[in-house]
Amino acid sequence: MAIRDYESKDGKMIFAGMNVEDIANEFGTPCYVTDEARLRENYRNVYKAFSKYMETEVHYACKANTNLAILRILQQEGAGIDAVSIGEVLTCLKAGFSPDKIMYTGVFVSTEELKQVAETGVLINLDSEYEMERLAQIKPGAPVSFRITPEVGSGHGEKVITGNKGAKFGIPRDRVVETYLRAQDLGLNPIGIHAHIGSGGQRVEPFIEEAEVLAELINQIEEAGISLQFVDIGGGIGVPYKPNEEEMDLGEMASEVTDVFEQNTNVRKIILEPGRYIICDATVLLTRCTDVKDAGIKKYIGVDAGFNTLIRPAMYDSYHYIQNGSRFGKACTAKYDIAGPICESGDYLGHERVLPEPAEGDVIVVYNAGAYGFSMSSNYNSRPLCAEVLVNDGKAELIREKEKIEEQWRHQIIPERLQ
Ligand SMILES: *Cc1c(COP(=O)(O)O)cnc(C)c1O
Repeated sequence: MAIRDYESKDGKMIFAGMNVEDIANEFGTPCYVTDEARLRENYRNVYKAFSKYMETEVHYACKANTNLAILRILQQEGAGIDAVSIGEVLTCLKAGFSPDKIMYTGVFVSTEELKQVAETGVLINLDSEYEMERLAQIKPGAPVSFRITPEVGSGHGEKVITGNKGAKFGIPRDRVVETYLRAQDLGLNPIGIHAHIGSGGQRVEPFIEEAEVLAELINQIEEAGISLQFVDIGGGIGVPYKPNEEEMDLGEMASEVTDVFEQNTNVRKIILEPGRYIICDATVLLTRCTDVKDAGIKKYIGVDAGFNTLIRPAMYDSYHYIQNGSRFGKACTAKYDIAGPICESGDYLGHERVLPEPAEGDVIVVYNAGAYGFSMSSNYNSRPLCAEVLVNDGKAELIREKEKIEEQWRHQIIPERLQ
């Protein structure tokens, strides 16, 4: 099995040394549960793979999950941060990252946000020429890098490919050199170059193509008189979500990508921005079976997590492997759709999964739920945001309380005249 597998003890799933039923009993469901050891291991895997060849910084793309405890663990590991909003920048500062460990990459950034980000002192990775002109006014002399459009795209679906020609992201390839020169004229200090081709790609080739485009641009920029200190290849390293899916060879990616820069350029420092790879398989979503329904042509396992809790299946048609943690390893006897409590037919976690016959209260485990899981959850149907739990060394700790229903009213106002 190429996705992460778990032990079974007395028919119960063991996650990071704990029975998933005990976690569900203590913290309630739905809840996201993260294995701290696995999180650290994933970070170290990427760092080790690349630092073997080049000076390396791994910037965790925190939009995958911005829980302060998770950020703190990565800060302890020595990670940097890829932040895409002022909210993420401030959250990472709060978690203990110093500004020089954070790089901000926005798209269609408002002047107000640009000013706020500039004030924090983090490195700004510019996405457009107009953003550059405004930053030159706001913060003369600021060090910057540019996100360029590599015209190479990769990802698990249409909606998450970002590097293709015509994408809304980055400086168009044929305008890159003149943009660097213009930045210098405006008094900015261009020190790096960045691209991000998309999310969840499972092949090495697009990353090599991306590296070749970046290498060519680095050399053109250098010929124009500007030498760069780093190249940032973005994130997008995919992980297997299906049992039989192969893992991408990180060692091969590291060796081939760094080779492109070492052979062809003078840049000796590489930055990567993995989000998914670092947190995805460190976390599962625990949800309870609330009902079992035979709809004639289909059977349903009703659960207490819907697309308000995990939107990826509904939004991207993403596949998440699902098991019954209360009957783990038991004979699978029928095919079920696993669906949540949201009043829409698109609310499901999985289709046609062969599972043991469940009963109300069973803990259903959704695998690979760490990336773009909690961070994309919502209050739809006025359901509170769920709890997050961290497991370390067989002990579980709460890292986010389940929201209270009243908290959903706290910013709402009934005008006086309606009272
Ligand atoms: C989302 C994003 C990433 C991370 O993508 P993953 O697929 O989670 O690795 C990296 N860099 C930028 C600029 C992003 O927007």
